[in-house]
Amino acid sequence: GLEVHFPIRSGGALRRTSGVLRAVDGVDLDILRGETLGLVGESGCGKSTLGNALLRLVPPTGGTVTFDGTDVTSLDRRGLKEMRRRAGMVFQDPFASLDPRRTVAQTVSEPLEVHGLRSGGRERAARVAELLELVGLDPAVAGRYPHEFSGGQRQRVGIARALAGEPDFLVCDEAIASLDVSVQAQVLNLLRRLQRQLGLTLLFISHDLSAVRHIADRIAVMYLGRVVEVGPADAVGSDPQMPYTQALLSAVPVPHPELERSRKRIVLRGDVPSPAAVPSGCRFRTRCPYAFEPCPDVDPALQPVGAPGQLAACHLHGVVGRPVDSGEPVAAR
Ligand code: SF4
Ligand code: MG
Repeated sequence: GLEVHFPIRSGGALRRTSGVLRAVDGVDLDILRGETLGLVGESGCGKSTLGNALLRLVPPTGGTVTFDGTDVTSLDRRGLKEMRRRAGMVFQDPFASLDPRRTVAQTVSEPLEVHGLRSGGRERAARVAELLELVGLDPAVAGRYPHEFSGGQRQRVGIARALAGEPDFLVCDEAIASLDVSVQAQVLNLLRRLQRQLGLTLLFISHDLSAVRHIADRIAVMYLGRVVEVGPADAVGSDPQMPYTQALLSAVPVPHPELERSRKRIVLRGDVPSPAAVPSGCRFRTRCPYAFEPCPDVDPALQPVGAPGQLAACHLHGVVGRPVDSGEPVAAR
């Protein structure tokens, strides 16, 4: 039930508006220990806000986040600091996220200082060398500055920094999006290797469904602030049960012409509505080619459909959800 709503302020003191931007709007999602969960959706659907809310970099306005049994939303400063050691973040833009005035060694060792790990210069230097090797960089580059590196190398530095506190959980937010296509696969493979080698739990956020299919064990699809489908990567990637996922999938080019012809194509009409004006009932209904009578009136709940472990929020699988006016849940009909 996680929510991150932002009040919309517009105009001066005399023109107070009461709008609300529903960036994350009732997300129900489990991320399982040791898995890579791919989170996909178009830009502006709330993926980054969700990733940030999990680490409490953005305060949730409703619902809860539980990390390894602990309610993240109620942590005190000390608890939050320890949680941030155990849960790291790899950002989209390695150019913007690294301080240009700090050497690689300074950047990577900062979390060690913050968390009081490896006291003593020598021990820290040894740990920095270890981390650089782990991400495929020569430890000899420790004294260099970000501008001396390529985009891919900078992202490796960002990953080394994120791993410094020995986290269990890593949020990678569009971690390959700003890299050259030729470098994207290398960084993707690096993340996959690290996930296995270190037993990490990974939330891999991306607008790129083919990248997500390559790395994820399970895939969650987000639309207008809500998870609308989730399940094993094979199932969601090849037999999606929610029309929006089908549309995302049909936008991915298929190399084989025979496959291309046999595919169900869904071309979306219109634009994504504003998160300040989420449609009633099914939020996808204004663009859905299958929208029917219950769709404006009942907000569909995630329900098991398709493969084992696959859930989709769509009335085509039986009308289950919350009627718009009463707020009372309805059973399948
Ligand atoms: Fe389309 Fe209705 Fe299913 Fe929403 S609930 S995806 S509008 S058919
Ligand atoms: Mg984003």
